[in-house]
Amino acid sequence: MSYTSQPYVKIREKLLAGELSVSAIVVSHLDQIHAHNKALNAFLEVYEEEAMTHAVHVDAKIKAGTAGKLAGLVIGIKDILCYKGHHSYAGSKILDSFKSTFSATAVQRLLDEDAIIIGRQNCDEFGMGSTNENSAYGPVLNFANPAYVAGGSSGGSAVAVQAGMCQISLGTDTGGSIRMPAAFCGVVGLKPTYGLVSRWGLIAYASSFDTIGPISNYVSDARLVLDIMKGDDGQDSTLSSTIPAVQKDKKRIAYIKEVVEHPSLQPEIKVAFEAQVDKLRALGYSVEGVEFPYIDQLLPTYYVLTTAESSSNLARFDGVKFGHRTADPVDLMQLYKRTRQEGFGEEVQRRIMLGTFVLSADYYDAYYTKAQKVRRLIQDKTLAILAEYDFIISPTTSSTAYRLGEKTLDPIQMYVGDLFTVQANVTGIPGLSIPMGKDSSGLPMGFQLMTNPFQEDKMLNVGELLSDDLE
Ligand code: GLN
Repeated sequence: MSYTSQPYVKIREKLLAGELSVSAIVVSHLDQIHAHNKALNAFLEVYEEEAMTHAVHVDAKIKAGTAGKLAGLVIGIKDILCYKGHHSYAGSKILDSFKSTFSATAVQRLLDEDAIIIGRQNCDEFGMGSTNENSAYGPVLNFANPAYVAGGSSGGSAVAVQAGMCQISLGTDTGGSIRMPAAFCGVVGLKPTYGLVSRWGLIAYASSFDTIGPISNYVSDARLVLDIMKGDDGQDSTLSSTIPAVQKDKKRIAYIKEVVEHPSLQPEIKVAFEAQVDKLRALGYSVEGVEFPYIDQLLPTYYVLTTAESSSNLARFDGVKFGHRTADPVDLMQLYKRTRQEGFGEEVQRRIMLGTFVLSADYYDAYYTKAQKVRRLIQDKTLAILAEYDFIISPTTSSTAYRLGEKTLDPIQMYVGDLFTVQANVTGIPGLSIPMGKDSSGLPMGFQLMTNPFQEDKMLNVGELLSDDLE
């Protein structure tokens, strides 16, 4: 039996009643991993023995009445989050053999509540990608149909939940990397407000965009995990120390006309989206189209700023401090150059070069400064919409999953896939992707809700109502 066919609250009831053991749950997920991981490539490493030992310990705590809030919740973590004493490669050869000396706050807080970490999940190198084909450890395949990609960059995390290999995954979302694979795999993905969950222990891609969030089968599970992870830890200066109260429901929802009428939108996704709009209307919301004049600026702004930040963040991987070091360099310059050439994949090198270019003295104002100004315009306009409406809704992606290799030759084609998700990251607001059925070829589609900063609870409430409808 798969324990992912029920939300954690139900599992917990059985655990506390002695009808189920944590060990049995771990075994069931390990069975799924053994059956499918070789083909799907979702986990890069499975902590089999460790998870079993931990399960026995948590079972004893349940018996003693001292179990934490997540006792028996089996979690996989994206290979970009640090976990003390364990490898974290960020999907890159440059961190080959690197072991973390501390745990990310998000990971530690789950452990402190007796969650079990079952393994480390494949991802695009440093989170750069939309299909999980940029991992140095091979692509992740979609469990709905292995000829298709999982989506990226948290592809391993989404497929692991999709295939019942774990109950919850922790992913990261810089431009859509939680929501996009969640949509491609038919699971739930939550990108929290920037500043809600500490980035301590997250290997940085673009620091002013990066967020950590859950991927799950149930909205209630995502909420549970977010509640445990969130809040100040004194390690991330961008974290908000006060969290505003839940806002009153205005019963008004907006969709951006330019998104819903976008020429790239797959017709079946549009039909499914319209069905969601009808459901929301039946729930008493008015749903209206609004104008958003910056659709064409979203991706350029995102890619100028994230490549700039990544070129700076990735400067630390130089062969001196951690990870890969080239053999027998003649001098320090050669050590740096060869290490980085050998260690970084093609997409990461492209982004470092782009980022270095937009930050260079001659082009800084033309690209970096300008993109910062446009970011502000996008933020102001988005927040102005959200001052009048509870949510901005859209399909999560304009199409269902791509065939493997379909987008890899043209990086621009790949970037275009992020169009609907980057707005939340450019603005810092939260976003939730929930399943929206399947298209005629059996591939999952996703529905996205975005809302005001720190209004996750409100967003999750509606997400739950809509998902109940879908079940
Ligand atoms: N696909 C986007 C990128 O490559 C988003 C990645 C992410 O959210 N980590 O930058």
